[in-house]
Order: sequence, then structure tokens, then C-alpha cells
Amino acid sequence: MNDIASSKIRKGVDTGYKEKYNYFLPKITAKKIPYAEHAANAFDAQLPLRPEEIVFCKRCVMSNQRPRIIIDEKGVCSACNYFEYKRRHIDWDKRRKQFEELLDQHRRKDGRYDVVVPCSGGKDSGLLAHKLKYEYGMHPLCVTWSPLLYSNIGFQNFQNMILAGLNSVLCSPNRILQRKLAKLCFVMQGDHFEAFSRGQIYYPFHVALDEGVDLVMLGENQELEYVGDTKNVDIPYNPIEDWEGYYHKDTSFKKLLEFGCEHGYLDEEDINDPSLKWYAPPPREKFAKAGIKFRWYGWYFNWVPQENYYYVAEHYNFQAMPRRSEMTYSKYASLDDLTDPFHFYMMLIKFGIGRATSDAAHEVRDGHLLRDEAVALVRRYDSEFPEKYFKEFLRYLDMAEEEFWSVVNTYRSMAPHVWEKVNQKWKLKCQVS
Ligand SMILES: [Zn+2]
Repeated sequence: MNDIASSKIRKGVDTGYKEKYNYFLPKITAKKIPYAEHAANAFDAQLPLRPEEIVFCKRCVMSNQRPRIIIDEKGVCSACNYFEYKRRHIDWDKRRKQFEELLDQHRRKDGRYDVVVPCSGGKDSGLLAHKLKYEYGMHPLCVTWSPLLYSNIGFQNFQNMILAGLNSVLCSPNRILQRKLAKLCFVMQGDHFEAFSRGQIYYPFHVALDEGVDLVMLGENQELEYVGDTKNVDIPYNPIEDWEGYYHKDTSFKKLLEFGCEHGYLDEEDINDPSLKWYAPPPREKFAKAGIKFRWYGWYFNWVPQENYYYVAEHYNFQAMPRRSEMTYSKYASLDDLTDPFHFYMMLIKFGIGRATSDAAHEVRDGHLLRDEAVALVRRYDSEFPEKYFKEFLRYLDMAEEEFWSVVNTYRSMAPHVWEKVNQKWKLKCQVS
């Protein structure tokens, strides 16, 4: 077991500590909206594809409810098989040479940026930008789409990354519009975090286009590393045609906006806001004409998140949380945003997969946890409700608590194979063992 996980279990560290935030969050919704009724017609193409019978991978702890996962006839999931493939078949020396050749093609010495790195300030993108500059002599521009509500530790880590000598652009789009989008996505996609993840994915490509940079580099291909579609296993990117399906539940931004305008989530002024374009990719022709390449760093190097943490801790004093994050045992991943526990919570509601499952599954594959230990961690933490910043989250969405639960329970009712009510309490029907 890794030291981070084991120390928490030994000491029984909890999440009791809470920092005070006093964010200015004015009301955003003018009229009464039937949220639960809308949620019942969710825009999430993944939901009808969930298998009725829940099966867990025999090697890690992931279940077959995860979108695009394949569990083979031996009971092993696609991510575990990908890890086996990585161990046996990938020639990492060859991949490293390919990486160096790629950088040689793009490195500039004319005072301009040569690579855009979408950077949250987290450990993974921080490692990538730092290495590109200091190990490979590149001139990266770190492009950050601000978290919805910055946590103190997230902002501190972001500042430390910049203080290490990296150039950075931080975009904080119209926050009122963003909150309206977050609310729309919470109701219609069961995931308010779409208002972050859309900008996080697309804004750096807009910047690359504006700055005339034709290489965008990201950390790891999450589809491969954390279970999903393996069809792009032999290429160092995901084609743009796949993005809507992989990252946005197969729902176009246009469809969301139309629904939002029609049903009182957005108004006409919102639709004319200049920041709106950053939630969608740049026009396909412009993108192709500029010849922008997008590459995964994790395709060229063996991706181990815990090692990334050690790297950034050493090189620019990246800080982990003093206590574990809610719903999991880990302290060093996804720290930036006060609202992101609710992204994980809704994943639990829709798929029965919580944050501890996601963390433990890849730590088993990385050899940092035994499966039995992972099972214990999942059973202990996965279903925890993220209480700590719940009030801030309700204020962020401008929702009453009963409205929040009406949406949650609508999604829960769409997963009768995942949830059952026992003694007036919701329980997962099936847990990993
Ligand atoms: Zn597995």
C-alpha cells in the first residue's frame, strides 16, 4: 500500500477541517424551473447503455457501469488489459525518441511560444509544463481555465507553478454565465462540472490558434488510463470527432444552449456573451487550416500519477491536502475546486462509481495498492456524501436543498439496478468485494 493511503488509515484522518470561504454568489435564476421534470429527460447518452447486471473487474475495482469499459471473458477490464499491454509491448525508448523528434519539429527560438499546455496547476499538467521547459528546452505557454470556485490550496499550487518560471494565461470567464451553465448541466447532464470541463478542454485550443502555436500537449489519455474506449491505443491523440462522445456525454453545446434558452436557465444576453465560444472547439476549418496537433504526453512515457506528485512536490513545492479529500482516501489529486466533489458524487449516483473507486482502481494497476486494500477503501469512502462545501455548492448553483435532492433522486431513479431503499435510506445494491 502506498504511504499516502496507509498513513490515513492508520491515523484515521478525517475531513473535519474546513476552510472559510466567502465567495460572492448572487442569485442567477429569475423564474421557477421544474428541475426534476427536466432531469428526467437528461442529455446523457451514456445512461441507457449501462448494463443491468453489475460486474466488477477481477483485477482492479472498477465496475462495468463505467462508460465505454470492456470487461473481457476473464473478468478483466480494458484499463487493466491496457496496463498489461503497456508492460509487455510498448518500447518506451522508442516512444521517448518519438517524443524528442516531435519537440524538435516544434521548438522555436524566435521569442514565440512553441507549445500550449492546458494547466490546472495540478500535479499532472504542472509536471508536463515544467519538464517541457527545463528538460526539453521548449517555450510552453500554460493555459489555465479557472476552476469554478478556487480552493486556497489549488490557487497556492497554481501560483507556485508560475513562480517556478512558467508563462501562464489564466482565464476566468463570465462567472454568472458560467454558474448558469453549471446549473443547466447539473440538471440536464447530472454533472455541473461540464461548465468547467468544456472550457478546460477547448479554451487552450482557442489560445493556440490566437497565438499561432501548432502544438497542444496534455497529460494522459484518460480513456486508456482510467478505463474507456481503447480504439486510439496506437495513436498519441484522440481525433476531434471523438471528443463530444468521450467528454460531453454525446451532447452538443448547441443542444444544451437551445434547451437552456427555451426553459429559463439562460437569457438572450447570455447567448451573446463573448466567453461562450470557449465552451466549444474552434471552428473545424480554422483548426485544420492552422495545423494544430494535439498530443498526449502519457502516450510517450509511462504514466504514474503518484510519481507526478513527487516530481512537482520536489520541483516547485506542490502541496497535498492536510487531510484526505471527501469520498476518497487520497490527498493529492483534484484539489483545485470547491465544487468538484459533486462531480464525483453524481458519478456515484448515476453509475455507482465514486471517487475512491477511480483512485483505487489505478493505484492497483500502478502496484501501489493490493486489490483487497482497494476494496476496503472503496467500501469505506466511495458513498460518503461531500458535506464540507455543500452549502457553498447550493449557493453556487442558486438552488434550494430540496431542489438539489429532487435532481439527485431523479437520476437515482434512472438507475434502479444501482440503488435500492432500505429502511428509508438509499443504498448501493451491489458493492465491490
Ligand atoms: Zn480492471
